[in-house]
Amino acid sequence: MDKQKELRRQQALEYHANGRPGKIEVIPTKEAKTQRDLALAYSPGVAEPCKEIFNNKEDVYKYTSKGNLVGVISNGTAVLGLGDIGPEAGKPVMEGKGVLFKIFADIDVFDIEINEKDPVKFVEIVKSLEPTFGGINLEDIKAPECFYIEKALREQLNIPVMHDDQHGTAIISGAALLNALEIQKKKIEKAKFVINGAGAAAMACVQIYISLGARYENFTMFDKDGVLHAERNDLDEIKQKFAIKRPDITLDKAMKDADVFVGLSVGNVVTPEMIKSMAKNPIVFAMANPEPEITYEAATAARKDIIMATGRSDYPNMVNNVLGFPFIFRGALDVRAKEINEAMKLAAVKALADLAKTPVPDIVNLAYNQKSMSFGPEYIIPKPLDPRLLATVSPAVAQAAISSGVAQKVIEDWDAYTVELNK
Ligand code: NAP
Ligand code: MG
Repeated sequence: MDKQKELRRQQALEYHANGRPGKIEVIPTKEAKTQRDLALAYSPGVAEPCKEIFNNKEDVYKYTSKGNLVGVISNGTAVLGLGDIGPEAGKPVMEGKGVLFKIFADIDVFDIEINEKDPVKFVEIVKSLEPTFGGINLEDIKAPECFYIEKALREQLNIPVMHDDQHGTAIISGAALLNALEIQKKKIEKAKFVINGAGAAAMACVQIYISLGARYENFTMFDKDGVLHAERNDLDEIKQKFAIKRPDITLDKAMKDADVFVGLSVGNVVTPEMIKSMAKNPIVFAMANPEPEITYEAATAARKDIIMATGRSDYPNMVNNVLGFPFIFRGALDVRAKEINEAMKLAAVKALADLAKTPVPDIVNLAYNQKSMSFGPEYIIPKPLDPRLLATVSPAVAQAAISSGVAQKVIEDWDAYTVELNK
C-alpha cells in the first residue's frame, strides 16, 4: 500500500515537472506571423481598440479576452485538506482549476496567488483586478475570512464573484439532496439534519438547503468544539444563527432518528452505530476529503436502506464541485451577469437534479465502465464526464440571470445557444 502511495506521489510530481513546468500556458488567438499581423496585434494597430475602449468602456468585451477570462484567485490559506500552506504551494491547485474551466466549459483562466492574509487588504487587491476579468472564482481561502471577502467583493464588483469552496459544494450537494430525499420519500421541510463541520462549505450548504425548503429548527450543527449551542461565547455571527438550546447534545445523540447527515469536517468521526441509530431511509453525505467522516463500506454495511454520497471518485454518488463551477460561470459570462445570485445557484441545483433523472447516455456508462446507470440510490447526481452538463446547466443559469435582472446581455435564440455550447 505504501509502495503504491509512493508511486502515485512520484507520478504526480513528474506530471507537473515534465516538459514546461506546471499545467497551463497562454496561446494567442489571432495570427501573428507576418509584419502586418504584428503591426495589428501590437503597435501601431493596437492603439485603435485602445481608443475605442477609452471612448466606451463596454467595448473591452468586444476587443479583449475579458469576457471569457476568469480569475482563479487564492491566498493559499485553506488549500484542499492541506490547510494554510501559502500562495506558492497553492498554485498547482489554482492551475488545476484553470485546466478544469478550460476542458469543461472553454473558459480561460489566469490563476492569481496573492500574498495577503488580511481580508480587508485582500479585498482591495482583488477589487483592483476587476478590469482584467469577466468573472472571479475565489478559491481555497480560509473561514471565517472567506465570508467577509466574498460578501465585500460581491457588493463592490460589477462582475460575477463566487467562492467555489462554499457555493460549488452547496449547489452540488443541494442537487444530490433533493434527489436523495425524493428516492427516500422524505419531505425537505420535515427532514432532521445533523451537520458535522461549520466551516466554509458547511455554512453555504445549510444556507442553500434552507433556500430549498429545510427549516432552521431542524438543524443540529457541530464544529470541532462540539454542538453549536446558545451558551457558547466563541461563536461568530454565522454560527450563532444555528446555535441550539441544548448544550449536552453530542454527535451520537444527535444522530439518533436524524434523516440526513452531512459531513464537511474531518475523516472517520462517524461510527456504524451512529448510522444504525438514524431514522428509516437515512441519507448520509460524508464529504470530508480525502477520508470521509465514515467510509462508504462501513456506512452501507450498517444500513441497507441508506443513500450514501462522498467526495470520492471511487464510489457511487461523488459530490464534486467540477459538476458546477465551469457551467455556472459559462452561463454567467454568456449573459454578462453582474453577479452570481441565489436564483442562479438554485437554477443550477435544479438543472443538476433533473439531469440525473434522465436516461444516461452510453458514452457516460462507457466512461465509468458501467453497464447501465440509472436514477436511484447509487446514482443521485450526474457524473462529471457527462457531456450534457454544459448545455443543461449553463442555459439554466443564464436564464435565471436574465429573469432575476442581473444579466447585461440577453440570449435571443436559445436553440442556437445550445448548439454553440455543444460545439
Ligand atoms: P473549513 O472551512 O476549515 O471547515 C472545517 C469545519 O470542520 C470547521 O467548522 C471545523 O470546526 C470543523 N471540524 C474540524 N474537526 C471537526 C470534528 N472533529 N468534528 C466536527 N467538526 C470539525 O473547511 P471546508 O472548506 O468547509 O471543508 C471541510 C471539509 O469538507 C474538508 O475535508 C474538505 O475537503 C471537504 N469538502 C468536500 C467537498 C466535496 O465536494 N466533497 C467540498 C468542500 C469541502 P471549527 O469551525 O471549530 O474550526
Ligand atoms: Mg477548493
